[in-house]
Amino acid sequence: MWTRRQFHQLAWTAGCGCLLGCRSTPVTNRNQLMLIQEDQELTLGKQSYEEATAEVPRSQNAAATQQVMQVGQRIAAVANRPDYQWEFRVLATAEQNAFALPGGKVAVHEGILPVCLTEAGLAVVMSHEIAHALARHGGERMSQGMAVNGVKQLGQYVMRQQPTTRQDQLLQAYGVVSKYAYVLPYSRRHESEADHIGLMLMARAGYNPEEAPRFWQRFAALNNAATPEFLSTHPASETRVQQLTNLLPEAQKLYVESPQQVNLGQTLVLS
Ligand SMILES: [Zn+2]
Repeated sequence: MWTRRQFHQLAWTAGCGCLLGCRSTPVTNRNQLMLIQEDQELTLGKQSYEEATAEVPRSQNAAATQQVMQVGQRIAAVANRPDYQWEFRVLATAEQNAFALPGGKVAVHEGILPVCLTEAGLAVVMSHEIAHALARHGGERMSQGMAVNGVKQLGQYVMRQQPTTRQDQLLQAYGVVSKYAYVLPYSRRHESEADHIGLMLMARAGYNPEEAPRFWQRFAALNNAATPEFLSTHPASETRVQQLTNLLPEAQKLYVESPQQVNLGQTLVLS
């Protein structure tokens, strides 16, 4: 039998998510568990950005670097985060990838540029990555790790073992983030949400949102997309393209209202 105090502790642990740390995501308004303070996340984002780009040579393609900066600044202008210190780096690697960390720290690998083709294609990639940061998907994942640890610790407490302090829980959560942030991909829910938020961002920034499903079709064709959806945390390309296509009417309204429509923008300079 549990004592009243133990029961209270359980209720606290189960409920603390929404008493102490619930927020909702921008655009999609989904409630998310958030036990990490945003300033901690911003510090971590800045450190991780320096670490992740320290050993990687910068692109020598000045024209493409300029195009990445321009697209990034247009997206930053509509991201509604004046507290972010935006930075955009182009890395001289063949990886077809990009990432954005909390605080507006964005990196694009050269290898993704031929898939993007135009500034609008680049906007698809960059706004998707920036959406992960704006929706605090990294902080949410850390919080989920903390909640799991909290439940484990409650189990230990009930078994009359020494409970660890909240400070230890926090340190463990950072352990979780260093493992998860780079090694594990985002969950499918986070991927679909970043697609959704990113589509609205690119439209508000004045890029034609119709380019988003087209970009993912090109990406899938190049990568063969042979992995069945149930084996991957990424949505299968057809699902992704369909979900984006369904959101196009809403995105078109934002595009039409944006102060300056650039449609697809310039063709990217690839070398
Ligand atoms: Zn993603």
